[in-house]
Amino acid sequence: MMKLSLIVPCYNEEGNIKRFHSDVKKVFTDAGFNFEIIFINDGSSDDTLKNLKYLHSESDLNIKIIDFSRNFGKESAIYAGIKESEGDYICLIDSDLQHDPALVLEMIKTLDENQDYDCVATYQEKRKEDKLLVFFKNSFYKIINSLTHLNFVNGASDFRTFRRSMADAILSMGEYQRFTKGIFAWIGFNTHYIPYQVNERFTGKSKWSFFKLLFYALDGITSFTTLPLQVSTIIGLISTIFSSLYLIVVVIQKLFFSINIPGYATIVVLILFLGSLQLLALGTIGKYLAKTYIQGKNRPIYIAKEIIGYKTDQ
Ligand code: UDP
Ligand code: MG
Repeated sequence: MMKLSLIVPCYNEEGNIKRFHSDVKKVFTDAGFNFEIIFINDGSSDDTLKNLKYLHSESDLNIKIIDFSRNFGKESAIYAGIKESEGDYICLIDSDLQHDPALVLEMIKTLDENQDYDCVATYQEKRKEDKLLVFFKNSFYKIINSLTHLNFVNGASDFRTFRRSMADAILSMGEYQRFTKGIFAWIGFNTHYIPYQVNERFTGKSKWSFFKLLFYALDGITSFTTLPLQVSTIIGLISTIFSSLYLIVVVIQKLFFSINIPGYATIVVLILFLGSLQLLALGTIGKYLAKTYIQGKNRPIYIAKEIIGYKTDQ
């Protein structure tokens, strides 16, 4: 019986793979259960794949490698990993050593002891990042929680371990643009949160820049609520009411008083303001239309060039 599957997305992590493997090996040596490590090479352009293959041939652990045909993103890598996993428990963990494998043992213990928990997830009590970034992240959680009526836990990370039933639920979400935080929130289940400290990256650098995060956040919001589409209706309604009132004023002015031609500022402001609102509304519709378009193509979530199984299978 396979008790645990570690799902490890790797994108240009050549310097971290070996150390990750030895850390895991150290932590799990005395664990006394069967586990597998599933590495997903997400289209790395460095020696990640070479290092993974070397590990696969040298290591005495159960290792699988899913080699993507190009970079599909961490979300797709997670999906692929879960799909290929055999464990009763599935653990998502980064390959850059920011997530401490020792914590996985604690998660497993908690799941073993509490049958009513479906998932044990980590969250950062206090974010270590830049103040401005923390402000944006906090705002994101406020916005998405109030717009979606789902429960997005601020600071929750992807570093988590869950049961097979939850893994099946994740796989049943067939959307092409995957927003993992949203998928976790949407499927429900009973998640227990434990605080943790994020380590520094071992080598290499994070793939996230501020703008990448911003677009990711917008993508996430539009993936899980259609409320922004209704905002223009509300704004339109309000502006219709005010314009009708102003229309009456203008008609009365025209009929009974002379109209002062000036009013230049008013006109310019109105044109710019309403024009911008219309563009914003159009953009919002465009965003949803694009999502529908992409999903309509029904493309696969990832393409694996090669899947390398256990040494014993070959
Ligand atoms: N990752 C991936 N595909 C990507 C980007 C990242 O598989 O397109 C992996 C990466 O190798 C790492 C994890 O996802 O194991 C988290 O990425 P990163 O460290 O860049 O994000 P951060 O920890 O800064 O949030
Ligand atoms: Mg990282």
